[in-house]
Amino acid sequence: MDWWVSMPKIELHAHLNGSIRDSTLLELSRDLGEKGSIVFSDVEHAILKNDRSLHEVFKLFDLIHVVTTDHKIVTRITKEVVEDFAAENVVYLELRTTPKRNDSIGMSKRSYMEAVVEGLRAVNTVEVDLGSPNLSMESPLTSSAISNLCDGTARKKIYVRLLLSLDRRETTASAMETVKLALKMRHLGVAGIDLSGNPIVGEWATFLPALQFAREQGLSITLHCGEVPNPEEIKAMLDFLPGRIGHACCFGEEEWRKLKSCKIPVEICLTSNIRTETISSIDLHHFVDLYNAQHPIVLCTDDVGVFSTTLSGEYVLASSTFGLGRSKMFHLAWNAVEFIFADDVVKKELRQIFYSAARKLD
Ligand code: 5GP
Repeated sequence: MDWWVSMPKIELHAHLNGSIRDSTLLELSRDLGEKGSIVFSDVEHAILKNDRSLHEVFKLFDLIHVVTTDHKIVTRITKEVVEDFAAENVVYLELRTTPKRNDSIGMSKRSYMEAVVEGLRAVNTVEVDLGSPNLSMESPLTSSAISNLCDGTARKKIYVRLLLSLDRRETTASAMETVKLALKMRHLGVAGIDLSGNPIVGEWATFLPALQFAREQGLSITLHCGEVPNPEEIKAMLDFLPGRIGHACCFGEEEWRKLKSCKIPVEICLTSNIRTETISSIDLHHFVDLYNAQHPIVLCTDDVGVFSTTLSGEYVLASSTFGLGRSKMFHLAWNAVEFIFADDVVKKELRQIFYSAARKLD
């Protein structure tokens, strides 16, 4: 496992609240239980349950949001999530979260996002680069910093970009508000927009105006696409030509053909797909077909907390299940540089990191 941890990796599909540490979630739930706001034993059972259907996962998210939606807690979770990814040598992280409004505690979508940025500033185990001169605590990597990246001794650097998620329960106006917030926060590392939330809720047409506007304004777009069978929506999403899509579990032949001809990169979340039973068995996962077709793919975690996984673990799983050796997996991680939503300067620096690591890991 050590090799997989020390290999540099790129994470492009991680939901902030789904990546909360179990220990933090239990601690926060216990605190709320003591205050009488929730029944701790019910929550404890839900947190410790391992095999959840897609429906149960969304019930758990509602619970997590009760426990976590408070500015200080959002800051704490963000800090911990980034530190956890950095600890397993994720060198570039796109972290997505749904800006939340909660009038009862004076939280607006903007103040929620400011709490997230505060969490990025609070990270102290690693340098965080948000692409802004005020927040990047270090200039581009020196060659000695790059060569130290894989030996676990150096204070490392992680590039973090934020994606603001639209929840499928939202209205067009609310989605537009999130996109406008994203535009105002570009200088704080916001690179794009994600569409997520319960796939059986909401209509594509509701989000299209906000997504179109986001794209016109230069934001990158990724969509949760095909988590449930819905050919009409999948077709509309692919016609939109997003920068990437997540999951692609319930595609038919026509959708595969279209996806491959458009070469839209796919964020693959193996453990998540198996746990939520959107794919019946890992041997049947579309990873194999896309990999063999040399379609752009990137391995991701989705929700490390909710699915008890890590990015290194996802690489181990893919390697052992599909019989791909270290070198092939390393190149898979390296290729992901091309699908990130940051600029060419960051891509160039990441290519250098992988090039340098390739020589060290041989
Ligand atoms: P947050 O946006 O609150 O930081 O992260 C949790 C949210 O991400 C969930 O409430 C849900 O909207 C979204 N999410 C997390 N995992 C999944 C997933 O596997 N599929 C979909 N469609 N949405 C997800």
